[in-house]
Amino acid sequence: MIRLIDIQKSYDNGTKALKGVNLRIDDGEFVFLVGPSGSGKSTIIKLITGEIALTQGKLMVNGYSLNNISPRQVPLMRRTLGIIFQDFRLIDKKTVYENLAFAMRAIGASSRDLKRRIPYVLQLVGLDQKADRYPGQLSGGEQQRVALARALILKPKVLLFDEPLSNLDANLRRSMRDKIRELQKQFDITSLYVTHDQSEAFAVSDTVLVMNKGHIMQIGS
Ligand code: ADP
Repeated sequence: MIRLIDIQKSYDNGTKALKGVNLRIDDGEFVFLVGPSGSGKSTIIKLITGEIALTQGKLMVNGYSLNNISPRQVPLMRRTLGIIFQDFRLIDKKTVYENLAFAMRAIGASSRDLKRRIPYVLQLVGLDQKADRYPGQLSGGEQQRVALARALILKPKVLLFDEPLSNLDANLRRSMRDKIRELQKQFDITSLYVTHDQSEAFAVSDTVLVMNKGHIMQIGS
């Protein structure tokens, strides 16, 4: 569960990116946050991941209070999150399988865990035939599926999508969107999906929030 209570964020140069944002994402809920560039969407994502600190307000992420989290707890909090970025962020010199293995080993998973879990998750995203490919040998849509698999492989409590379809062409966008929705429904994954593209809303989400100039303006479903 994620809760932002009256969150304000000012950057060092004085930009007020968030001006009192309230947001609650309950377990199993899929929240879609749409707004123009510069409205504060990425700032919300970065606050949730602990990449930047808030200026004022209260922020809870999966049982952790980010107001007074200790540096030692930050990696544990992050482990409860799976993040899918616009630019995939895969390791180019590793195969699909190795990209997923790397993520699992980083949290101390055994070889046995890897052998069991990686083929299963690759099959979920429809890439079980491509485990030995390198990212450069895959389409953009396939690379984003690897990123989705990497996010899912650690069984996060919450998935964060930051403009996940922006680098894909129209056909790939549609199939990726359907895949996200299918997996979210199947596993009841709590999700926050941010984008500037309103047309993505209706296909993927339960709750639609509209953001503008550091405020959440409108709530609909
Ligand atoms: P969005 O994701 O909706 O495009 P952002 O959260 O990236 O919006 O940005 C919100 C506002 O904060 C914008 O005015 C942007 O210029 C500003 N901003 C973002 N990051 C920084 C930063 N590191 N330093 C100063 N201003 C920033």
